[in-house]
Amino acid sequence: MKIKSKLPKSDITIFTVMSALANKHKAINLGQGFPDFDCDESLRDLVVKYVNSEKNQYCPMAGLLDLRQAISDKIKLTCNTTVNPQDEICITAGATQAIFTAITAFVHEGDEVIILEPAYDCYIPAIQIAGATPKGYQMVYPDYAIDWNEIKNMVTEKTSMIIINTPHNPTGTVLKKEDLVALENIVAGKNIIVLSDEVYEHLIYDGEVHQSVLRFPNLYQQSLAVFSFGKTFHSTGWKMGYAVGPKQLMDEFKNVHQWNVFCVNSFTQYALAEHLQTPTNYTSLPAFFERKRDFLTDSLKDTPLKPKLSQGTFFQLFNYEALSDLEDAAFAKYLTKEIGVAAIPLSPFYSKPPGDKVIRLCFAKKESTLAAAAKRLAKLS
Ligand code: PMP
Ligand code: GLN
Repeated sequence: MKIKSKLPKSDITIFTVMSALANKHKAINLGQGFPDFDCDESLRDLVVKYVNSEKNQYCPMAGLLDLRQAISDKIKLTCNTTVNPQDEICITAGATQAIFTAITAFVHEGDEVIILEPAYDCYIPAIQIAGATPKGYQMVYPDYAIDWNEIKNMVTEKTSMIIINTPHNPTGTVLKKEDLVALENIVAGKNIIVLSDEVYEHLIYDGEVHQSVLRFPNLYQQSLAVFSFGKTFHSTGWKMGYAVGPKQLMDEFKNVHQWNVFCVNSFTQYALAEHLQTPTNYTSLPAFFERKRDFLTDSLKDTPLKPKLSQGTFFQLFNYEALSDLEDAAFAKYLTKEIGVAAIPLSPFYSKPPGDKVIRLCFAKKESTLAAAAKRLAKLS
């Protein structure tokens, strides 16, 4: 049988590749972004409680109303914005499903979608499956600043979506208020939707405030923001997330969502709704992860790896040009096989990799793991 692939050029994700290599070589895995510590015991207990309380049947298509209410309360607390839980929130199977559903719902064949590269790897395949063309704007190391005039010039009649991501994976940069204002001005009055990937909303450091599209009333009317409980509650394997947007957009999002998954798993929704009642479960995250970022940075200060201090996410970039001329993918493989620490190269996040000598390390790890990795990396000279 001849299969006509919709993604003929698609590779296996770099996260899968590097985790497999890490396992094969028994390397400490600072590559793929996941915590090596468990989620809170109280949250695990809630899941057990609800799975044993006959909460195992379908819930409403948009998700459990109690969970949507709890999310709306969190948005009120963190962004001082009122979002109607009835028709502006949809619970999804992780942010990846929310992103795929949003692109499927709003991007048509022949459209153009502006992405900012380096870009998280699930955007381009979803755009291609929708029959549209990704248009990459390249942010430049080390600042990865965005010239919004250039973005404005990239907009054409065919542009139906602009995808942003703050805090940003893989660079660890965050957008400022001025960035969001510039974006708001670009899309104002146009049929362009902003898909805002905010999965690391609570992982932001040095007193910075997360600039969500939800804080900008006019921009919000043209936006869908996506979030992930995997990042917020150290539970990446549960694949639970949600999308937030104005009713008009959310109705269309749910129009696709109902034929895609209908609804996502029930018992974790009950557990998450209850866990969200305690705001410190998420307001404590910046301090918790900032300590880990600083521990890793400090542990590597005597190596030739030069950090670009992470402003958000649980990733930090390190420049290795003092060490090697290898391309980033080859250097990440060398680190994994020979030094015993797995890293992620940046080239897979670009359509045209700029050749920077930079790798990404994940610091969502126990201090003992970070210390063991640092000990191995101290061999580099
Ligand atoms: N967007 C970004 C920027 C991510 O880093 C990730 C996951 N690591 C996702 C989306 C997907 O999140 P989820 O695991 O909830 O699908
Ligand atoms: N988002 C995670 C990262 O950037 C990986 C998720 C995945 O493996 N698909 O490392």
